[in-house]
Amino acid sequence: MVSTHHEEPESGITEGGTQGAFRDVLSTKHARRGKAPLHFVDMDDQERKELAKELGMPAFRVKQLAQHYFAHWDTNVSGYSDFPSKFADIAQEKFFPTLIEPILEQEADNGETIKTLWRLFDDSRIESVLMKYPTRTTLCISSQVGCGMDCPFCATGRLGLTRNMSAGEILEQVRIAALQCETGRLPGGPTRLSNIVFMGMGEALGNYKAMMKAIRQISALPPEGFGISARNITLSTVGVVPGIRKLINEHIPIRLAVSLHAPSDKLRDELVPMNRRFNTTQVLDAAHDYYLSSKRRVSIEYALMKGINDQAEHAQLLAKRLNHYGDDWVHVNPIPLNPIEGSPWTASKPEDEQRFIEILRNAGISATLRDTRGSDIDGACGQLAAKELAENLVQRS
Ligand code: SF4
Repeated sequence: MVSTHHEEPESGITEGGTQGAFRDVLSTKHARRGKAPLHFVDMDDQERKELAKELGMPAFRVKQLAQHYFAHWDTNVSGYSDFPSKFADIAQEKFFPTLIEPILEQEADNGETIKTLWRLFDDSRIESVLMKYPTRTTLCISSQVGCGMDCPFCATGRLGLTRNMSAGEILEQVRIAALQCETGRLPGGPTRLSNIVFMGMGEALGNYKAMMKAIRQISALPPEGFGISARNITLSTVGVVPGIRKLINEHIPIRLAVSLHAPSDKLRDELVPMNRRFNTTQVLDAAHDYYLSSKRRVSIEYALMKGINDQAEHAQLLAKRLNHYGDDWVHVNPIPLNPIEGSPWTASKPEDEQRFIEILRNAGISATLRDTRGSDIDGACGQLAAKELAENLVQRS
């Protein structure tokens, strides 16, 4: 499905999946311990300089490393023409350890969507999706291995939470995608990575510190960061209210996307277990406060599930609850659910999707049916990892 206009976010990764029959098994098999090796981007400038000193390097070498990393997305230190070869190996090992390795790549939409399954240092799996659009190129990234929010219709939810990702693991997804864009991996030749959405595996606000460290380095200008405008970064949350409130105080103009999926507590308690902790009123209050402080319209994500949350009464109640806060503060993205095999949660009928959107629009709420890029390559959040893990399990048993 194609959006009628390009309202962000547009990630190809979204909720999909089934009740977690394999969840515990997968997460047990999946679980590893320990921390990812420390990477250049996990350290602040002082820590980098201290490490350089320990390695016998002058402090100014740190700035060179930063320049190559952030301005050229290049971690091959031995290839740096301005870097002494005697320090290349040790700098490579201590500053740029390999944190993520691609193990599977799938393409869709004539090559304009590339989904990558990555292996982390502890053999965990995460995924990212790169999507080319006429006016921008967007990367959807993961921030946790699995997710602990347990939404019953979601493939990632059934993996459970294995661990938080480090800032390095998050940022390496960005660096590699930026390099792919630059080197013409996408159709149409070299392009620039322009947008980042935290809509892959995990609840980004559940990994607040690493996520913020990543956001600051995505948005700072080189050599402090990749120079992707904060306004082009979208953070998706299931509604972790204290996290939203903390984000308000960061004063970074990123876009907030709230996965609501239901207009009432009764229904949302079932679809999004986190609602029992922070209910719809608390979530919407926090989202509206985010809008007031950031002046950025909040996105409401709403996965349409046939006969469950996609009827006229749901759209009417959603419109009423959003209009309660005033006009034009929110944009709703109904998302056609991309269910995985055997799921009791299925996609809405196209006519019900249309009716849902019309009701919202007639009530003065801007709404766009979200583009589900990559849906033909297991495009729903967590599905690629879930599939690959399931295959591994079959092979091992
Ligand atoms: S928060 Fe998102 S990723 Fe996590 S289980 Fe719920 S729908 Fe899935």
